[in-house]
Amino acid sequence: MIDLHTHTCYSDGTLSPTALVRRAAANGVRCLAITDHDCMAAFQPQPDDELALDVTGIDLQLITGVEISTLWQGREIHILGLLVKPENQALNSLLTRQQQLRRERAARIDEQLCQAGITGLQEYLDDQACQAIGRNHIADFLIRTGHARDKQQAFSKYLGSKGKYRTQAQWCSLAEAVQHIRQADGISLVAHPERYRLSNGKLNALIDDFQAAGGDGLEVSYSNLAPEQLYRLARLCQARKMWASLGSDFHSPEATWMDVGKIRGLPPECRDQAVWLHPAWPAPGQARPPLNDDAGMQSAP
Ligand code: AMP
Ligand code: MN
Ligand code: MN
Ligand code: MN
Repeated sequence: MIDLHTHTCYSDGTLSPTALVRRAAANGVRCLAITDHDCMAAFQPQPDDELALDVTGIDLQLITGVEISTLWQGREIHILGLLVKPENQALNSLLTRQQQLRRERAARIDEQLCQAGITGLQEYLDDQACQAIGRNHIADFLIRTGHARDKQQAFSKYLGSKGKYRTQAQWCSLAEAVQHIRQADGISLVAHPERYRLSNGKLNALIDDFQAAGGDGLEVSYSNLAPEQLYRLARLCQARKMWASLGSDFHSPEATWMDVGKIRGLPPECRDQAVWLHPAWPAPGQARPPLNDDAGMQSAP
């Protein structure tokens, strides 16, 4: 079993990286990518030992990853980067900027909430262990303070695209995300393409721009996807000759309908384009791509 899209408490997931990896292994996942929003902390040395990733004794191939929020034609599009090098400086600088945009967005929402008499968001966020503050954290705050019944209501009433306190962040462009992932030796994929509610024409235009920027693939199978959508994506992936990925987008054990590893396999149309067949994909047991990646571009003769 493979799952190439999951979140930890470094972004808007609830589990530590170690708890996530253990849950994945217990669910039968053999290959797992952690893809936190705008953050690679799960793969970087951390001052807080309690959160440091410990995979000793766990028989599972861990793949580095990230999910970058981007803007394309004024819409928010998420781009996944798999096999990215966590130490890549340019990518880390981009993610630092994105995290700052997230803090600024939260501050704007806090201002609006204060004007409406709802105080305490900033203090609540300051107590979170995350590096990438998300709307999920703000939704949790609204639920805890009794202003929303559940996540769905927090998004539909306050934080979603039609919510009262929606505020757009100036995320990096789609092309910038793709280029940075590539520079960090990663493979880039359009995350959950059906969640943007694009017409066929718009989805094709998105993929045109994504491929022109050097984008590699599509997430074809993920949670809450109707069978006809799954097959539409599989056919699109085949027609566009792109790499195909799959992932649960797991955030928390509480969301029982979205567990790590609980995801349909790739349809036959795109099975031979599975991203784990990519030449840069590490062999089982290897944490890193085996090819010339370690030399990096600078040291090429
Ligand atoms: P952000 O990255 O802060 O812009 O927030 C996007 C995240 O919010 C997604 O990755 C989901 O985890 C969550 N999210 C977005 N829309 C909804 C929704 N309607 N209900 C629950 N969670 C949502
Ligand atoms: Mn999320
Ligand atoms: Mn996403
Ligand atoms: Mn995600």
